[in-house]
Amino acid sequence: MSKTLPELAIFGAQPVFQNIRSTSNLVQPDRDRFFFYAKQSYDAGWLTNNGPMVRLLEERLARLHGAEFCISTCNGLWALVLCIKCLALEGKHEILMPSLTYRRMADIAAWLQMTPYYCDVEPFSLGICPRAVKRQINEGTGLILAAHPIVNLCDIDALEAISHESDIPLLFDSVEAAYASHKGRMVGSFGKAECFSMHASKFLNGFEAGYITTNDTDLAARLRLMRGFGFSGPNSIIEFGLNAKLNEFHAAMALASLDDLECQVERNREKHGLYRDLLADVPGIDLQEYELSEKRTFKNILVRLTEAWPISRDNTLRILHAENMLARPYYFPPLHDKPAEYPTRTGKMTNSDRLKHEYLLLPSGDFLSHKDIKKVVKHLEYISNISEEVVQSLEAENR
Ligand SMILES: *Cc1c(COP(=O)(O)O)cnc(C)c1O
Repeated sequence: MSKTLPELAIFGAQPVFQNIRSTSNLVQPDRDRFFFYAKQSYDAGWLTNNGPMVRLLEERLARLHGAEFCISTCNGLWALVLCIKCLALEGKHEILMPSLTYRRMADIAAWLQMTPYYCDVEPFSLGICPRAVKRQINEGTGLILAAHPIVNLCDIDALEAISHESDIPLLFDSVEAAYASHKGRMVGSFGKAECFSMHASKFLNGFEAGYITTNDTDLAARLRLMRGFGFSGPNSIIEFGLNAKLNEFHAAMALASLDDLECQVERNREKHGLYRDLLADVPGIDLQEYELSEKRTFKNILVRLTEAWPISRDNTLRILHAENMLARPYYFPPLHDKPAEYPTRTGKMTNSDRLKHEYLLLPSGDFLSHKDIKKVVKHLEYISNISEEVVQSLEAENR
């Protein structure tokens, strides 16, 4: 006997959105600001290699983060590789890092022939657990790589204390904390160094770009050499190097996006607030709140599906994707669950193994309008209200 299927795109209905609503930020700063900066380099005939826009950008980013030095790079990944290469203890091969984090983090270690040793995260904050870090430090530990979670920060104070006690250098991946403060001090000068990305999907948009901030004079000088082939003069190569330079036009875009920073934060704050107000009426969905007493980007809409939510996370994602709402599971699969072509090591994963199924990122980003947000939440309410029917129909399809 055939029953009518719920009115959802996954069962053939028209999707809620004609075009995809993703979780990529894709900030498009004012076009004239971009051209204003780009024109200066173009007119000067200086297109890359530490040109005027790159230097201006580095100066402004250093000021933003309250750090002495900023070294721009072609992207965030090579910023991390360069920092690890400079900071990891000689002769040690392991990097402590969270498992619930950026999906390419382990590959970054592998580029340096180092072994990632995964640490559990703390519940609620989702930041790397300092107790796990402490427990997992061993003879072979060369570096602690603390990646900040998508909303708020990991426990900077505890991690710095462990780094001091153990003499193991601490590096932060602060990509998701690009505009965050800790006890009133901007992220950017904690640990030995901090790495950032300005990929188009991130907080600041430099098309493809990254940067490192640090207060360490020697480290800054060495990073500058290494990102530009290791040349110290036309004919002298004094350092292991690669080409990880940022070009002028990407720097111009990043500058235009910096000009818009405060406005963007305000737009993000409003959208996050709207999600909060609307989601308050949807049982089973908990919005991860930003700490309001500190500076934050308010960019990400991270939610936890609780026991009160009637549909599995995977089915929820399938349903949303069919509606062109590109919600994403939070850092899934975690690194310790992924097959790797290189050696890895895993600590106790009590929290990560539970939390990995509970979180998802709802559509966000600069293109998302308030009207879009209302549609997303309305749709969540709708599928929750007809959940029995939905779950039955999905099961019937799988049979
Ligand atoms: C995107 C991202 C990176 C890498 O940055 P790219 O500029 O894309 O190379 C590193 N860490 C985190 C947490 C990221 O989200």
